[in-house]
This record gives sequence, C-alpha cells and structure tokens, in this order.
Amino acid sequence: MSETLANLLQETRRFPPPADLAAAANVTADAYDSAAEDRLAFWARQAGRLDWSTEWDQILDWSNPPFAKWFVGGKLNVAYNCLDRHVAAGHGDRVAIHWEGEPGDTRTITYADLLAMTSQAANALTDLGVTAGDRVAIYLPMIPEAAVAMLACARIGATHSVVFGGFSADALTNRIQDASAKVVITADGGFRRGKPSALKPTVDEAVAKCPTIERVLVVRRTGQDVAWSDRDVWWHEAVETASTEHTAEAFDAEHPLFILYTSGTTAKPKGILHTTGGYLTQAAYTHHAVFDLKPESDVYWCTADIGWVTGHSYIVYGPLANGATQLMYEGTPDTPHKGRFWELVQKHKVTILYTAPTLIRTMMKWGDDIPRGHDLSSLRLLGSVGEPINPEAWIWYRENIGRGECPVVDTWWQTETGAIMISPLPGVTSTKPGSAMRPLPGISADVVDDQAQSVPDGGGGFLVLREPWPSMLRTIWGDDQRFVDTYWSRFEGLYFAGDGAKKDDDGDLWLLGRVDDVMLVSGHNISTTEVESALVSHPSVAEAAVVGATDPTTGQAIVAFTIPRGSVDTEGSAGEALIAELREHVSKTLGPIAKPRQILLVPELPKTRSGKIMRRLLRDVAENRSLGDVTTLQDSSVMDLISSGMRSGKSDED
Ligand code: ATP
Ligand code: MG
Repeated sequence: MSETLANLLQETRRFPPPADLAAAANVTADAYDSAAEDRLAFWARQAGRLDWSTEWDQILDWSNPPFAKWFVGGKLNVAYNCLDRHVAAGHGDRVAIHWEGEPGDTRTITYADLLAMTSQAANALTDLGVTAGDRVAIYLPMIPEAAVAMLACARIGATHSVVFGGFSADALTNRIQDASAKVVITADGGFRRGKPSALKPTVDEAVAKCPTIERVLVVRRTGQDVAWSDRDVWWHEAVETASTEHTAEAFDAEHPLFILYTSGTTAKPKGILHTTGGYLTQAAYTHHAVFDLKPESDVYWCTADIGWVTGHSYIVYGPLANGATQLMYEGTPDTPHKGRFWELVQKHKVTILYTAPTLIRTMMKWGDDIPRGHDLSSLRLLGSVGEPINPEAWIWYRENIGRGECPVVDTWWQTETGAIMISPLPGVTSTKPGSAMRPLPGISADVVDDQAQSVPDGGGGFLVLREPWPSMLRTIWGDDQRFVDTYWSRFEGLYFAGDGAKKDDDGDLWLLGRVDDVMLVSGHNISTTEVESALVSHPSVAEAAVVGATDPTTGQAIVAFTIPRGSVDTEGSAGEALIAELREHVSKTLGPIAKPRQILLVPELPKTRSGKIMRRLLRDVAENRSLGDVTTLQDSSVMDLISSGMRSGKSDED
C-alpha cells in the first residue's frame, strides 16, 4: 500500500454498555491502566488465575525473538486446570456440556463426568502407546468425545492436531503427514443436514498413505457400517472400559499443546504451534473478560466447530478453564428447520452467544421472522469472530437476536494469536457497529504504513502487534524459517498479521480484511470490506463479496458479487433495476470512487469450511482465469453457479 487505505466509511452510532452489566462486570476500565503500567506483571496476574504445580522463574523470555517463552520454568497440567480443580472445589455436579445431537438426541455432562471420561481416554491412549510429545490427529464430528479427546491428549502431554471433520482424505493426509501423527481419533460418522455422514472411510483412505499411524480409535456415533482392520480400536471397547482414575502429570509451560492448521483463505494452510502455560492463561483470561462469564449463572454457546481455533480456545480450553456451563451442538443451523439455533437458545436459556458474521448474514438472508418466533430473552451478550462484521449485520444481530439490548463484542484474532486480541470489553466500551475497538489490556496492537510508522488517527494501513503476548504461536510446525518469513519479516521487530485496518478519529480500530484483498482503484487503496459493508447496508442485500479485477483504465475495478435477501425479486428487469440502484447506493455511501464497475446477483458465495469468503476465487472469476486451489472450499458447485452467471452476462457495465 503506497498510500494508506482510503477511509471511506462513516459510522456515528454508539452503544454504551448496559448499566447492570457494567456494574457487575468481571473486568473494568482500570484493567487497561494496570496492564499499561506493567504489562508482564499484568499477565503474571492472569496466569495466577490457573493452578500451577511449579511456579515460573521468569514471566517472558524474549531474548531470541521471534521465539518467545512465557512463564519459563513453570509447570501445569491443562486438563487438570479445566477439570480436576473444579471438581476439587466442589463443582463436580455443575453441567460442563449440554450437548445436542442433530437428530435431537441429547446428553448432559457434568464436570465430574467430563473428568471421568477424560481420565478414561487418557488411560486408553497411554495403553495404545501414546506418550508425552507424540502427535495425535483428531477427526471427529461435534460430539463430546471431541472435547474429551483433546483434553485427554493435553492430560498426557500428547500434542493434538484437530482436523475439521468436513475435510477430504487429501487434506487429512497432508496434516497427518506434516505432524507425523501416531494415532487418529475418529468416528464412524456424524450427522449433517439430517443424514449420517461417514468419516471412517476418509480416515482409511488417508491412513493408507500415512505410515506413522499405528492405531485408529473409533467412536461409534451413527452406527453405520465401517470397514475394519487390525489397527482399528473401538472407543467404547478401549476407552469406556478404562479406569476413571488418572493422575495428571504437570508439563512445562512451553510444552507443545496443539498444532492447528489455518483455514487456508489466503494460502496453503500453516501448522500453527501453540504451547501450554501462556496459551491457557490468555484463552482463560479473554473468555472471562470479553464474555464476562459468570460460571454460576451463565449458559454459554460458541457455535464454531472444534476443528477451528475458535473451537479450541472458546469451546474447550477457555470456557472449561473458567468452569463454564456451555451448549455444544452437532449439526447445521438449518436442520431440521431454519430456526434450530433459536430453538436451542430458548431451550437452554443461553445467555452468551458467540458466532460468526457468515452465520449472521445467512440469518439475515433467511428473514427476521425466524428468530422472532422464539424466546431469546435469556441472551445478555453477543460475540462475533472470523471476518469483519459489516455494520448492518452487527445492527441486525443486536436488534433481532439481542432485542436491541445485548452488547455485541466483535473480537479480532487469528489461529496464530491463539486467543482474542482486539475487542470491546462489554462492561466498559461504548461500541461502534463494525469496529473491534481497542486492543485488550496487555495487548499492544497498532496500524502502520509501509515504512512501519504508526498511522495517525483517521489513517489506515497494516495491522501489527508490537509486543509478544502469552498465547502467541511459537512457530510453524517443522518450519521455523516460514514462521520468521511469514510473520516477522515485513516490519522489523513487529508481528505482521496480514490484515489491513484503520484507526478512526477516536483511535478505535476497524478491520479491513486481508491486505491481499485491498483494491487499487485510480490510485486509491480501497478496502473490499468497506464496499461490502456499503452493499450490505442496502435493505435488499444480505451478503456481498467484493474483489478488484484488472482494468485497463483504472488499474483495478471493483466487482461485487451480491446475495439478495430472501424476499427480494431479482427476475429480469427487477434484477437490472436493483443492480443500478446498488451501484448508486455505494456511490452515495462511500463516494463515486467506490462505485462498482460491475455487480452480479448470485445465490451463494464461495466460502472456506469455516465460513470465510474466498475472494481469491472470485478474483479468478472476475478476471476470467481458471480457478486456483479449491481444496478448502465448502461447496465447489458454488463456483460453477457463479462462473455461469458471469459468462451469461447477468451483470451491469457502463
Ligand atoms: P489462512 O491464514 O490460511 O489464509 P485464515 O487467516 O482464514 O487462513 P484463521 O486464522 O482462522 O484462518 O482466520 C484469521 C483471520 O480471520 C484474521 O487474520 C482476519 O483476517 C479474520 N478475522 C477474524 N476475526 C475477525 C474480526 N473480528 N474482524 C475482522 N477480521 C477477522
Ligand atoms: Mg490467516
């Protein structure tokens, strides 16, 4: 970005925290001051929220950057902190997980139950020859055994690598090979969209190419037929018969806890390595601070899949370390009907909901009357993660899900950061729709220009992190050089996140998407996010993805792929009229420079399995190229639909 990003979007709405929430908030404004006074002492206090079997000698060793060590010399067990200590404190009967299967079957698992299940799994894994430092691949549906498998690995010091259950055999093979995993934990299948969906055949295909795999541990979930070999072991035979007693051994604060591959929106997935003490400290603290979790009264629900970092930090480690009661759901939001999520919120009286913009925009597309049919009055706090949230989607979420009362926390972070970095504090921050606001206490984020100079308020550029943080990635598994090159080479001494951002006139942060997605139109850097948000602010639009396509006169021209809301007529001339109206609307909202050259009305957008829009594929379509790597795409038929719309000229051009 030679020039800084144009700052086009103006947003003046403000939402102060509700008085009752502010009065009882877990974290108050003085946290910013105390962290600013002594950042390391602040993090040491947060580490003190955990149980350590050996105290650390040094809070941070940053003598060999970018390779950080946090809580040097300290020892703890992650599973002990998530389970045993709550049971020991008398909370064994508290529900840890209210689980809902897609077909309607349910399970209620207390902390005492979860400890017993995890102990059994730890004993069984040990019997299968897994020892501390070994890697275990986990390829499971959203069933409680997924959390149990992760906790059991943590308990015995094995490093887990969870692979999303929707991935193909190739994706699983690559991830197993990259980590040289010894065991895979899987299931016969899981329920997706009303049908059993097999997992075991994919594992069989992958394992045939993975000589490091010694055993495959298989949970019976759907009861479908599975091929069987000597290396396979049933979970109900090996785990459910094992002893429920297991003494957790403490591991070094820097012991590898897990490897997780990024979602692949921009490039080949990277095996991000997280370790023990710093990771758990920040996952637990941020869950406590950002969601204001009250373990005695809240029912928390994070809708992410366990295969993403959000599932790791905000289904398993953060909430369980804090003794939360949570809901876990196996299936899709539209099975058996589009109100399933709201039915579950009503049934379990969910108080805190954490979901993704893609889901919010999908709900907008489905229509307001769906949530309106349910009692959502238990909700008191709403969160968002995964992509920039468009101001209109933020408002829709607050109004239609949060009754116009619940604070919305837009949380920015990455697989690499391990835990939330930039977010409002719900009892402190007056929020602005679409802004992640400020770095959390103890976090040092900034926006810089291409000379690494901090941009003034009102300016835009690259999001960087200035100081190491406890849950930071320690490296890319097996590739220290790629770690240094990817994150630490663009700006000397700074972590480069890959995202563009701007500071508004108050110094609050607005995420503008990947820097790779920024468009250069007639000499102006324009963010795809801002144009998308302008489109979504039109009442007929549910979702939009914008890309820059090479253009002979303007350098790049703006091409928008737009999904209309459910009720909107787009046939024939109505579609043409809508397109013309949308181009005018963007021009009026952001200025003529941002007026799209072309708008296409499409039924769907290409998304990764984690629901993020894959703009690079749309850029291929817009520039008439053949498509790049589509292996992490959710549904490849979407691209055919979009490409054929493009070819048939269902678009508008001056
Ligand atoms: P890859 O790095 O392989 O391309 P990915 O970046 O999509 O994959 P994740 O680590 O899951 O994989 O996603 C992190 C990214 O998601 C962030 O860098 C940012 O672009 C986006 N993101 C997450 N939360 C927010 C948010 N609240 N606002 C804006 N963007 C967000
Ligand atoms: Mg990324």
